[in-house]
Amino acid sequence: VAEAPPRPYTYGETQASIVAVVEQLFAPAVVGLPLLAREQVRARVGRTVGNPTAKAALDMALWDAWGKTCGRPVHELLGGFTDALAVSHMVGFDEPAAMVAEAERVRDTHGITSFKVKVGRRPVHADVAVVRALRAGLGEEVELYLDGNRGWTATEAAQALRLLADIGLSRVEELDPADDVLARRWLVQRCPVPYVADESVPTAADVTREVLGGSATMISIKTARTGFTDSVQVAGLCEGLGVPVALGNQVDGSIGSACALAFGASRRSTSLLPAELSNWMAMSDDLLTEPLTVSGGRMAVRRGPGTGIEVDEEKLGRYRTDR
Ligand SMILES: [Mg+2]
Repeated sequence: VAEAPPRPYTYGETQASIVAVVEQLFAPAVVGLPLLAREQVRARVGRTVGNPTAKAALDMALWDAWGKTCGRPVHELLGGFTDALAVSHMVGFDEPAAMVAEAERVRDTHGITSFKVKVGRRPVHADVAVVRALRAGLGEEVELYLDGNRGWTATEAAQALRLLADIGLSRVEELDPADDVLARRWLVQRCPVPYVADESVPTAADVTREVLGGSATMISIKTARTGFTDSVQVAGLCEGLGVPVALGNQVDGSIGSACALAFGASRRSTSLLPAELSNWMAMSDDLLTEPLTVSGGRMAVRRGPGTGIEVDEEKLGRYRTDR
């Protein structure tokens, strides 16, 4: 069991394309292989270009099947570093007062004290006002960091960083496009906090290019796009390069979040920073027999075999749209 979030504007995949590539290309290539021949699976699936979340879901489902077969949790099979992760919550575009109220609600309800703020609007002053309001409303003890999703130019991003110099941001992410190569390097050189690459580094090769090219100083790992096997590769690469990593979220539901949690808890490097594991909280329902929980700002790993989740068949029957 795993989840593949369709993100046409990020990866070019739709729900229909994910189902089609799994049924028509991946299944015929891998059905019949031994469960532990994961590198064979990876090589055969890798012949198809693109389709990152479909590939990632297949990979994570295989690890889940391995865990369930041998009766061990996936986070142990992957490394077994810790049993809980601090959680970071994303606050989306809104008026400053509404964003402060949402962050306060999440802090008071779940104990979360780390917040990612979506920025990238023009002019930059609207987002600067939001970040200032969040710092004033939440106090000095919470972590605030920014994600621009490439919305600003390097010049606009530099202006925002100057205007927010006293706010105590912990990191910033994709404030400007990585494809503006020299402008991006210019900005990263001047950035006073780690500059996170996310959508510009969907593969380990992209991580190598962006980090060695001076276009990033921290890497966001998302199991939704690199599964478990390639996330291990990205994490190991970053550990070898001495580049910190953060665990990101692809608007994962509960199943995807449980997968991200299992991976994040498996290694030291992926459990150092609060992980983006809370997007499922914005959804009206999920498919799990036992819902995820956040307590004291942390999510505990699931103890059961595999990724530790069970799909509620009654709910699955109610929500599925393919029959
Ligand atoms: Mg991002």
